[in-house]
Order: sequence, then structure tokens, then C-alpha cells
Amino acid sequence: MSTPSDNLLDREVAGREWEGLRDLALRSNPQLNQELIERAYWRAWEVHRDQKRLSGEPYFSHVLAVARTCAEMNLGSDAIAAALLHDSIEDSPVTAEALAKEFNPTVSLLVDGVSKISGLRFESREKAQAENFRKLLLHMSRDVRILLVKLADRLHNISTLEPMRPEKQKRIARETMDIYAPLANRLGMGRIKWQLEDHAFKYLDPSAYGRVASMVGMQREAREEFIVTMRDRLQESMNKNGIDCAVQGRAKHLHSIHRKMRSQNLREGEVFDLLAFRIITATVEDCYHALGVIHSLFTPIPNKFKDYIATPKRNGYQSLHTALVGAEGRTIEVQIRTQKMHEIAEYGVASHWRYKEEDKASPTASGDAERELDFLRTFIQDLEEGEWSEDPSEFMEELKVSLFQEGIFAFTPRGDLHILPVGATPVDFAYSIHTGVGDRCIGARVDSKMVPLRRPLTSGEVVEIVTRNDARPSRDWLSFVKTSKAQSRIRKSIREQESEQSESLGRELLEREFKRNRQSMPDEAALKLAAEAFGMDSVDRLVQGVGRGSVSALQVFHRVHPPEDKKSGIIESAQKLTQLATSLGGRRQKGVRVEGHGNMLIHFAGCCRPVPGDRIVGVITRGRGVSIHRQDCVNIVGDRIAEERRMRVDWDAGEEEKFLVSIQIHGDDRKNLLADITGQISKSDVGIQGGSFRREEKDLSALVQVTIEIRDLKQLEKIIRDVRKVSGVRQVERV
Ligand code: MN
Repeated sequence: MSTPSDNLLDREVAGREWEGLRDLALRSNPQLNQELIERAYWRAWEVHRDQKRLSGEPYFSHVLAVARTCAEMNLGSDAIAAALLHDSIEDSPVTAEALAKEFNPTVSLLVDGVSKISGLRFESREKAQAENFRKLLLHMSRDVRILLVKLADRLHNISTLEPMRPEKQKRIARETMDIYAPLANRLGMGRIKWQLEDHAFKYLDPSAYGRVASMVGMQREAREEFIVTMRDRLQESMNKNGIDCAVQGRAKHLHSIHRKMRSQNLREGEVFDLLAFRIITATVEDCYHALGVIHSLFTPIPNKFKDYIATPKRNGYQSLHTALVGAEGRTIEVQIRTQKMHEIAEYGVASHWRYKEEDKASPTASGDAERELDFLRTFIQDLEEGEWSEDPSEFMEELKVSLFQEGIFAFTPRGDLHILPVGATPVDFAYSIHTGVGDRCIGARVDSKMVPLRRPLTSGEVVEIVTRNDARPSRDWLSFVKTSKAQSRIRKSIREQESEQSESLGRELLEREFKRNRQSMPDEAALKLAAEAFGMDSVDRLVQGVGRGSVSALQVFHRVHPPEDKKSGIIESAQKLTQLATSLGGRRQKGVRVEGHGNMLIHFAGCCRPVPGDRIVGVITRGRGVSIHRQDCVNIVGDRIAEERRMRVDWDAGEEEKFLVSIQIHGDDRKNLLADITGQISKSDVGIQGGSFRREEKDLSALVQVTIEIRDLKQLEKIIRDVRKVSGVRQVERV
């Protein structure tokens, strides 16, 4: 950057700088709107006049540097103007509305987008970072140039980190390495990517950076000599074969050398080999032609050839890659591509605007841009549809993972291309087709053969997903899927399945509990009240809680039917018994009304055999309902029956109701006594259920016991009176 000068505040110096920027911009695109950029230039100059950076440099030098990067990237007039103004909203009373009026709506949109991202403040740094990126990505969906200006901004900031505190340097470098560089890579912007990486590398691992830098520096002379020799040989043979091209030689970037040394365990001396050559041709045919020529010239290293022209990288990158044993037995890497592929490799998405501004009607140009932006579109779509985690640290993790991933290509049987991260499985593929396909996936045929769902796909495979309508995602899939979309969908589906399961289990447990307590399942309103009592906002929550075991079904039951005092409990169980008996089809005995509790199972005690007219009392028994005794029955007098088991009962017998009662008759032991007694009873139209006769030897008397069916006490008394009239009868009494 050629503007590190206080003089920039001088109008004349600033004027010369303007000419520099203008020339740079026009060099890459002569059709720029020079007038617009110039106005933006001077507006920014005024806005930042009094501001200085931490280094003491005029602030304007920063926006100028960002604008130069945007001009190099060929982002077009609006973006260059926006780059100049990118800090104006934050640092001055300038508003987006004013910018729209003064310049145009696009400039305003771009500046506003970049400002919003950096202007937000949050309680925690992590949250702020995640939130900023979320915003950045969402704004990017309005215009991807917002992100490109932001990248240029970041590039200048990280190249001027020196005056900052070390922690801040490290933090910005880490963020650059983790997010911005991969993002630039994903956008196909190779040049910005390696610049960002090399700057970040310096702060993240200063000692490794120092080693690599001095290594490269020490060998510079020999290396440059070698590069020139090799380049000339390559160019010469290309010319001989009639291939119109330019050959470039270069040392690899510091960070990529470092990465290569680490990943391939290279020692310092071997780094010399890390030289790369580039052959830029006019046509695609020339690329393959050039490849043939160099392969016949030098020995190709096996397995190093890659054809990214036939199958471009996910970010749109195209090139032929090969490695050769070059002159002096040194390994060299060669990339072969057309000029246009080269621009896309260097500037990626940004190269789109060159074609856009030059030739608005060109369908090819916009078609290419479409493909390049494809990744962004799904990325942003997922973001907008909430496929990304709300949790800041998870979000950043997902972002990092998805940015770092290199792609593989797989096809549907119909030939639709799906680009997935390396290691992606048929499940990822299924979710990439459609959420519904992923959710119902049960198997996959890859190149017509069934494969396990966890088997990673490789580029070029044709994948057919087998689905079943009632299939559901399995938790197991989480252990092998690679895309964040599949992950979040599977998690979501498992959560849904779990709540469904706990809901149906909860409902079953509740129904069982209410049934066990002889109660019907309460209605929604009653359950809602119960749910509220447990601090839950819905019946579903309550039912799920029961299913998960956080609330017991009995607790819910007691909430709906609060346990009353002891007596109610006893009554309740008697009532339940009644219901049970009824439901079993049992005939309930009638004739008595239990005070306050209709519909109770009753029976008449065998010991005292009460009949209507007797003073009676109910005794709640264990398991047989209410037993009706006469109040004077010996079995219940005194404290033999606890007070809480006694119930007030009243006769409620109809005419047709019959009661069994036994009477005992003491009389002379004479012939026909039993017959006379039964005859007398029969006159009153009373049924006899049975009888017994016993002779008392000691006083020659007879003891007769008869069980009769009578209506009430009055009828019984009449019978007793009647029987007393029978000859020889001495005494009649009720048993
Ligand atoms: Mn800035």
C-alpha cells in the first residue's frame, strides 16, 4: 500500500492518491463510473479528515486501502465507492438515507450492510462474534459485495495489527484464520485467502512464521534463479507446440509452506521444492494440450494429477493440477488454466462483476456467477430457515466446519448434481435432496449397489436413496453425517420422536392410573389445571412429563382427585368397588339408600338380617361394599366398628323388594307342628326359603327355625303374631 503518509490530509497529496486509485481501477475495468467513485473519494476524505488510526496514520489511509483492494478485485464502481465510505456511517453523522440520495441506493445498501455488521455490540465477545457473522451472512444475501468489501476491510486491518495489544492481535488473527480466510476460499477468492492466511499466521504462530519466512528469504536467490530457468523451459516448449500461453513461476505462500511442512513432515531443506508454476492459456483445449506437453517433457509424479476443469471445486475453482520431477530432480507443481479460470481462482465470486459491468447481456457470465453463488445461496437459505444453531459457540463451530469443507460431487439417478463435504454419506445426500427424503431414508444404492448408509460417498457416484413413508431418522446417523443440515434435521426429528414417544407413554400411564383408581380419564380442562399446578404451560408438556418420569401418574391423579380425609378414602374405595361390581355385570342389592352416596354396592348382613322398618346402620367393609346391619346387631355394637366405617343409611325399598329373615319358634314337640307353622306363614303369602327342626330331649320341646322372605318389619311382626296363634307354640322370636 502506497499511502502511509500524514500528508494524505493535504488536499494536493490526496489528489495524487485519487489519481493512483483511479488508474488502478480503470486498469482492471475501463468502463467504471469514475465520477461516482471520485465523489465518494472526496466525501470520505472529508468525513475522516480529523481521525487517526492507532498507528497514528490518518484514518483515510484505511478506507483508501480497502478501496484499492476492491478495485483490484474488480468489484465495480458501486463497491469501490462503498469501500471508500464503508466507515462513514459509524464514524460520522452520515446516514444510509443520505448516502442513497448523495450517491445511489446500491452504495447506501453496501455501506449500511458493512456498518451494521461491525456496529453491533453484545454482552459477550463470543455472542457478539456469532451474531456479527450471522448478520454478515444474512446481509450478504442482499448483496454479496457486502461480504467482499468486508473481506477487503479485514485484509487491511490484519495487515496493520502491529500497534494493537497482543491479545487483540491474536483474537483478530484467529478469527481471520478460522472464518474470513475459509470464507474467502469458499468464495473462490484465492488471492485474498492467502494474504489473510499469511498475516494471521504471523500472529498465531510467530516462531513458525519467523522460521518459514527466513528460510524462504535465505533461499531467495537460488530459488529465483531456478524459477527463471524452469519458466523459460516451459514457455519455450509451449511455444514450440503452438500453445498460446503465459507461464508464471512463484514460491508458495508462507502459510501454505508451513501447512505442507507440517502435513508432509518436510524438513527445511526440502522446502526448496515447494515451487509452483502456472500456465495460463487462451482456451480449454490448450490446457489439456499443455498438460500433454509437460508430461512428455518431465516425469509426472503418480497420483498428483487432478482435473478440476471437468469437475470444478465447490467454490467454482477450475484448473488442471499436476506435479513433476523438474530440472535438477526437483519436484514442481504445475497448474494449467484459462485466463478466465485464473481470474475466478484469484477473485472468485468477485470476478463476476467484471463480466457484469462489461457486458450486462452476457448469459455465460451470469451463468458462471450463478454457479459460484450456489454455495452461498444454500448457505444463506439454511441460515434463514434456522438450520443453524442459536447457541453462539455451536454456531461458530458449524460455520467453521462448513467453511473448511472441501466438496465432493455426487449425482441423483436423474443426473442432478449435489455438492457435499468430503466424507459425506448417503444420509447427507438424502438431506441435500430434500428434508423429507432424508427423514424417510432407509437405504441407498450407489452405482446400482446397495451400500450401508454410513459409507462415505466419493465424487462422481450416482446415488439413489431408498425411502419408506413411515421411516424415521435414527440417532445413530448423528455419528457419521457430515453436513450441518443433516445434523440439525436429525436432531430435530429425534426430539420430535422423543416427545411423541413420551407423550404416548405418558398418556398410557395416566389412563392406567385413573383406571386403577376407578376413575375415567379427566378432560383437557382438568388436565390443563393439573399441568398448571406442576408449572407446565400445556397438557402436552404434562403428559410428556409423565412419559419421561418427571411427574408420576399418581401425582397427576391426586391433583385431579385430591385425597380427602380417611372416611372419604374409604367411601371412595367402596364406590369404586360398586363400579367394578356393576361393570362385571353383578346384580346389586337394593332397598337401602346410603346417605350422600348414591349408587353404592350394599348387602344385608347375614348376622342380623335387617328388614325395612328396622333401625339400621351401614358398615363399610373391605371388599364387599356397604354391609347393612340392624343398629342393635351384636356384631356392631359398642366400639367394634370404627366410627369412620359407619355410614348413615335409610330404607328405600319398593313393594316388590323381599328381605330374608329368620324366626325361631319354640313349642311343644308335637306331631305336625312344623307343617302347621309353615301353613300359617303361607297364609300371608310369604315365601319360605328354608327351615329346620330340632327336638329338645331335656324338656320334650321342639325348636323350629324358618327363613322367610318378607317385605318389611310390619309384615314380619304380623307373621310373628300369626305364628304365636299356632297351637303348641310357646315363643316366637326373630333371630
Ligand atoms: Mn474499516
